[in-house]
Amino acid sequence: MEKSNFTRRRFITGVSIGSVAAMASSSLPVFGNIMHTTNETGKLAILGGEPVVKSKVWPKWPYRDEKMVEAMSKTVRSGIWCRIESPNGSVPTFEIEYAKLMGTKFAVGTGSGTQALNTCVEALGIGPGDEVITSPYTDMGTISSIITSRALPVMADIDPLSFQIDPNEVEKRITENTKAIMPIHIMGQPCNMERIMAIANKHNLKVIEDTCQAHLGVYQGKVLGTIGDLGCFSFQTSKTISCGEGGAIIGNNAELMDKCYTVQNHGTSKKGRSETIGAKYRMNEFEGTILLAQLDSAKERFALRNKNAAYLTSKLKNFPGLVPQKLYEGTESGSFYLYTMSYHKEHFNNAPRDKFLKALAAEGINMSGYIANGLHKEPWVDHIMGLKVYQKMYSTARLKQYLDELACPKCDQVCADMVMLWASGPLLGTLADMDDIINAIMKVHANRDKLNQI
Ligand SMILES: *Cc1c(COP(=O)(O)O)cnc(C)c1O
Repeated sequence: MEKSNFTRRRFITGVSIGSVAAMASSSLPVFGNIMHTTNETGKLAILGGEPVVKSKVWPKWPYRDEKMVEAMSKTVRSGIWCRIESPNGSVPTFEIEYAKLMGTKFAVGTGSGTQALNTCVEALGIGPGDEVITSPYTDMGTISSIITSRALPVMADIDPLSFQIDPNEVEKRITENTKAIMPIHIMGQPCNMERIMAIANKHNLKVIEDTCQAHLGVYQGKVLGTIGDLGCFSFQTSKTISCGEGGAIIGNNAELMDKCYTVQNHGTSKKGRSETIGAKYRMNEFEGTILLAQLDSAKERFALRNKNAAYLTSKLKNFPGLVPQKLYEGTESGSFYLYTMSYHKEHFNNAPRDKFLKALAAEGINMSGYIANGLHKEPWVDHIMGLKVYQKMYSTARLKQYLDELACPKCDQVCADMVMLWASGPLLGTLADMDDIINAIMKVHANRDKLNQI
């Protein structure tokens, strides 16, 4: 960091958000050691100025390389396209390798993360009349996996700083029909599993970890997905390990994992008997091939994302306008599927989030909100309330209470205030790329008095 790069304008900007006393001392700069590679005092690009980043090419996502192409040709030529055709095919091999990577005894591949979650719900015997507590701040796949089995997804509000399910809210919502908790490691960062597991143990509940965004993250020395009874992953194209559409379940309980296999195989067990309810959720050999070919190098990409995310966070350390997602004690790493921050408009001249995002995009850095509405506000709620099976399996009083307790004001606030960088690709960039992100943010901040002209 070179102090000489501080412009007068920048100094004034600093004074307005830092303490004057701090500025008078030698504790510059107020935002941490930001490298000033651009002229932050320049006119906003959206108002006709030069953008910070002219034609940024981010690392491509989904990750792909020649190894995958070769492996795929081999699978095509082999004629083994379905997992049940060979015990040595790419899906059975992927299951062995993925379990190794995660440090569990078993893994079962599925066609998606939603399918993996629903397989667990079915395998645990959860169905009509049962309740599963989860968060409204998630992908619809989480909720879908519960209502597909006609169980009741009970919404626990989130911690507005970490965006994660709030264990206190979970505990409040336990009833005699609660069978499981489905916590989500949102953005790929660990939720408060210590509290979740303590609550589950106290009330004798199962825990299905929705690890769909959180491949390879570590919490208190444990890989995410290995802490609860079962862990579920998504390999949908945007996720940090991806094959277009795909999923997996991991676990250490042989009997339960065997049940998961049976459920995802339309109820047909490894013995060939048709034993239970189950949709056909099998992963195919092409998906297995693409996944297998990237497992070796997935850890490198994971490490790079963590390094770049730590760099961004260090740059934002003393900047109150954007506050990175709070990580819980015990967080050793996360997948950084998304790099997320709370937007504090009071530090941007009260400009609404949209104006900030527009100005930032014009500077060449695209960020966005994440989920527009918490899932407690989506029409599936009315849909299930209108279904006979819900009216029969839950008392009128329970359904009324359910609707009365559906509000999740903290989730609503996060939906309105959060900004994110979709991180799977961009966080595989260089430190100079990270500086571009920070410089664009700081330029918009320096020009915050102009944001209301947009
Ligand atoms: C992506 C995702 C899912 C669903 O996974 P699919 O593979 O898209 O079915 C579930 N939960 C979370 C948190 C997700 O991000």
